[in-house]
Amino acid sequence: MTFDLPWDPEMESPATVLIIGGGPVGIEAAIYARFLGYFVSIFESRRVGHRMLDWHDRPLALPVSQVTTPLGHAAIAAQNPEYQRPDPNRIFTGREYAEEYLIPLAKTDLLFDDIHFLSPVADVSRIRTHRRDPIHLQDRCNDEFRVLVQGQHRGPWIARGDCVIDCRGHSIEPIGMGPGGGLAIGERDHENDFLLHAPGDRKHEPKHLNGKHLGLIGQDAMACQCVEDWLQRFPPETESRLTWMVRPRGPYDSHRYSKLRDSIESTSPRNLVCLETLGVESLARQENGKFRWKLLKEDDSTVELETDLAMRRTGYRYRSIGCELHSHADHWVGANAHSEWNAPTFVTAEPGYYVIRAGSVNGHSIEEGAGAGLPAAFEGIRQVFAMIGGREDLDLYKIIQQQSGSS
Ligand SMILES: Cc1cc2nc3c(=O)[nH]c(=O)nc-3n(C[C@H](O)[C@H](O)[C@H](O)COP(=O)(O)OP(=O)(O)OC[C@H]3O[C@@H](n4cnc5c(N)ncnc54)[C@H](O)[C@@H]3O)c2cc1C
Repeated sequence: MTFDLPWDPEMESPATVLIIGGGPVGIEAAIYARFLGYFVSIFESRRVGHRMLDWHDRPLALPVSQVTTPLGHAAIAAQNPEYQRPDPNRIFTGREYAEEYLIPLAKTDLLFDDIHFLSPVADVSRIRTHRRDPIHLQDRCNDEFRVLVQGQHRGPWIARGDCVIDCRGHSIEPIGMGPGGGLAIGERDHENDFLLHAPGDRKHEPKHLNGKHLGLIGQDAMACQCVEDWLQRFPPETESRLTWMVRPRGPYDSHRYSKLRDSIESTSPRNLVCLETLGVESLARQENGKFRWKLLKEDDSTVELETDLAMRRTGYRYRSIGCELHSHADHWVGANAHSEWNAPTFVTAEPGYYVIRAGSVNGHSIEEGAGAGLPAAFEGIRQVFAMIGGREDLDLYKIIQQQSGSS
């Protein structure tokens, strides 16, 4: 692993790592940083692991050995000598994962005081280097980060640090429901009207869907999950209806999506229709409260549809308490940085700003279900700290595993 970056990413401790997001990836990144002797601050818009808690009683896609790390278990065991490591072959549900692993980890002395919950990050910049300054990458790298936190209790405040690890999970990509992933007319106005929870989620309220017509747009893993949940809960003889708006079949369809479409087409449930569209041109709410969708078809015509309820699963930001993150790095992530510099995907063109997502590292896919992308994210964490620590072979996971094996 030799990366040829136009700045020196090495960072000696003491230094402060700012972590955005208190999901499985953010918490693991934080514990890794603490074991290496860095100070950390973790900012979470809501509460630690709330997405896994929402995943509720559905099983994760991978066993304990792959969704947890030796470092995490070692930290919990150091705090609580009674801690029984779970069977590595066991499959946690989302709730068990949060309650038996993630939250105990967040409560260890190593992290507890450094986690700021109900604290969405609204903005990231540098102290001395202006966003628009001609970029001297090494100078930018030497400058501190400034993070604006919109604390729910404390109000707005500023944190400073030497590097930022962005672990916002699905919240990162703002993909709208319009054609090409753009915004539909009216999409922003109805931000608070969309149904948020799939039938298998912790917070789903069954009364919402009983006897109602739901319009669902999107075909990513979350959309598929929602349809699978819906099919389980509403067999064809029920009055609840689903119109699933999807793009015409194409080469980029995931395996999971294709399988689900095939199975729907072969069984043709009476109360589920798949409607192919390039995207939503506009969405409006009528006086009777119903949603009116205008959909663009492949032949450039439009078709209108009325539903009682609306759900968007296009990969749009999972609602983060009305707070959108603006950061210089946002404009740079994915810029030709990676090909030019032989850089891994977690490096952005903003020196010291890293993005680690479950499923985003080295092309691993998250299509297989909850937690499927975590091993790739843990590998991303290892690589980030090998880079920051200036030691290519640094692998705390291996070291801790060897230590616990020999003790
Ligand atoms: C509806 C639903 C669908 C799911 N679909 C999948 C799936 O398709 N594949 C999969 O692997 N898992 C899925 N999961 C399971 C699980 O959520 C993920 O595997 C896991 O949470 C990913 O971990 P993460 O740390 O990358 O992201 P998350 O758990 O999403 O953690 C990111 C955290 O960042 C916080 N955050 C966001 N923006 C900000 C901000 N500006 N400031 C501060 N904090 C911020 C969020 O509140 C969140 O807690 C799903 C869960 C649910 C409830």
